[in-house]
Formats: sequence, structure tokens, C-alpha cells
Amino acid sequence: MTAQDLNTTTIPLYPTAPQPATPAYATDEPALDSFGRRIDYLRISLTDRCNLRCVYCMPAVGMHFMPRPELLTSEELLVVVRAAARAGFRKIRMTGGEPSLRPDLVELVRAIKSTAGIEHLAMTTNGLRLAKMAGPLKEAGLDRVNISIDTLDPQKFRQVTRGGRLEQVWEGIAEADRVGLHPIKLNAVVVRGLNEDEVPHLAALTLDHRWEMRFIEVMPLTGVADVAQDGVVKSEELIAGIEAIHGPLESLGLAPAESARRYRIPGAKGKLGFISSVSDPFCSTCNRMRLTADGRLHLCLLRDDEVDLRAAIRGGASEAEIEQLVRHAVALKPWGHGLPDGVLPTLRGMSELGG
Ligand code: SAM
Repeated sequence: MTAQDLNTTTIPLYPTAPQPATPAYATDEPALDSFGRRIDYLRISLTDRCNLRCVYCMPAVGMHFMPRPELLTSEELLVVVRAAARAGFRKIRMTGGEPSLRPDLVELVRAIKSTAGIEHLAMTTNGLRLAKMAGPLKEAGLDRVNISIDTLDPQKFRQVTRGGRLEQVWEGIAEADRVGLHPIKLNAVVVRGLNEDEVPHLAALTLDHRWEMRFIEVMPLTGVADVAQDGVVKSEELIAGIEAIHGPLESLGLAPAESARRYRIPGAKGKLGFISSVSDPFCSTCNRMRLTADGRLHLCLLRDDEVDLRAAIRGGASEAEIEQLVRHAVALKPWGHGLPDGVLPTLRGMSELGG
């Protein structure tokens, strides 16, 4: 065959081998990202819906929730969990929206906890439904909970959550404590002008309880960037405020792969944690990825990069192929957020990402 023949036949002159959708990654090894971080913690948003409307999480108007067919079914979600476990993920946190609104939550907990490779299963919740659900969740295999509580004042709680009853949260915390969802961590997002004056009182909860009270800097997610713009109170300022009332705090350091810098009020039973995602981020030890309720792996909380697993699952991909996609997503994980360079996330609000 001459060059002349080649140009007149249908044989391509420069044939290329079919490319796999993603490069092949080694299996049976934990997934490392391109910076050498081991990524083994998956935070799953079970739904974008919530029974509260916290001012730092959702805008007052204009919230759109995903149509139900867009959400991963529980079978699809378990495909992702198994694929992630095969890619070396060991810890899972269920979040939302409000994860306790998922109708089959107890069965989901049982199935996730019995997945080979999954060692630890936690949930972040507003606590409203815990008084009823803590027992069944514990029995199904849930290890522990983080419960959001931004103020001790019922009136302010109603204002912050746009209608929530603080008493219901206390009942949830008490039941979670009673059934042993330990260690219980309480989360407060601190917003200047809203609840920073509550911080020493919230910190005092640790004097008599073995809880960890964590204070989170408000982040500029889509829909609430205005709240976050002037709302960030740096952890140093919070620590100074607590020390003014409770005396010098004892530093307990930063546990590996943890986001909170830990302290203790001397003599207290519990601990304090400060999550300074804006002013002093922990990107170098980040070990996490997020799965949105509509089946995207979201690679960094404060960036828009995503890998679509739902399309692959609904397109008939095998679990081994989903595992490869998970590993591919891990390899693409960005180093960290771009807030200092003015890069803001635009795609999703916190209620879709789960914190
Ligand atoms: N509904 C559950 C709850 O209330 O904890 C789980 C979902 S919520 C989105 C998860 C965590 O994100 C909560 O601790 C919440 O306080 C935190 N959060 C929400 N919006 C935030 C923001 N703009 N900045 C920092 N944390 C935020």
C-alpha cells in the first residue's frame, strides 16, 4: 500500500488507540492525591433539603432544591460507598441539607457500616430529630454525631435558624449522649454581630460535659457570601474572649487529619475546637472529599471542581469503573482554596455540600 492509497482509503493516517475515559490507577492501594495526601474521608450529602434555614447557610429567598430524580438513590449511593472503600476510603460522614430527613436513613447506616473497609461512620445534624432517631441509628451502627448549636438563647436560635426550637436540639443532644454516640461534638458557626458574644457561654458547656465544642469560621459559600464577607471572627479573637472569662486555655494541638485546633479550659471535662478554614486553613492535612446528593464528587469545599459519578453509574459503569473514577477524582484534588486570591466558589451552597 502506498501513501497515495492510504490517503484515499478510510484507514486513518494517524490511528490512535481508544483512550480510556480515565487513566488506570492501581487498585488495592490507598488513594493518594497529586500532592501525596492520603484521601480516605468521604462526606456524603444525603439530601440538599433541610428543616432549618440558618442565615449563614441558606439565603432568605431564592433557594432551589434538587428534583428528587436527580438525587442518588440509596442503591446508587451504596455503589459509590463500596467503590470509595475499595479506593481506600475508611471514614464516612453523612451530612446534608439535613441527613435525618432521608427516609431510609437507618437502613442506609446499617448498609454503609457493614461495607468492607469502612471503619468509621459519623453524621452531622441539626439534632431536631435525634430525640427519636439516636437509638435506632446507634443500633444500626452509627459511631458518633456532630450537632449544630450556634447559641444558647432560644430567641436568638429562632433568629439564626429562621424558626428552629432550641429545646428540640437539647433533647436530641441528651438522647445522643444517653445512647452513647460518643464523643459528641457540637458545632457553632460564629458570625460577627450575630453570635460571637455567645462563644464563652458555649465554651462553658465543656466544663461539666465530655463534649467537644467547636467554633467554625463562617465561609463564603454561594448564597451567603454577604453574611461571610464581614462576618468572619478569627479563632484568635474567640480564644482571647474565652480566656478573658475562663482563664488561659490549655493547648491540645491538632490531631492528624483533623480540622480543629484543640484546647481545654483547665479542669473542664470536655474540649474546645477551633476550625479556622478561612484565616488559617488546614489544606496541607486535608484528607477529605465530598459527595453531593446528586452524585458529584466535589473535590474541595471552597472550589467548584467536580467529577460526575451519577452519569457513570446511570450509564452502566461497573463498580470497578466507579472505583477508577473515584481514584481519578482524588488525583485531581486541588491543593486548597483560593480565598486569598479572591477565588470564590460559585456552583453550590453549603446545604448542597454538607460542610
Ligand atoms: N443540617 C446539618 C447541620 O445543621 O449540622 C448538616 C448540614 S450543615 C450544612 C453542616 C455544617 O456546616 C454545620 O455544622 C453548619 O453549621 C456548617 N455551615 C453551614 N454553613 C456554613 C458556612 N457558611 N460557613 C461555615 N460553616 C457552615
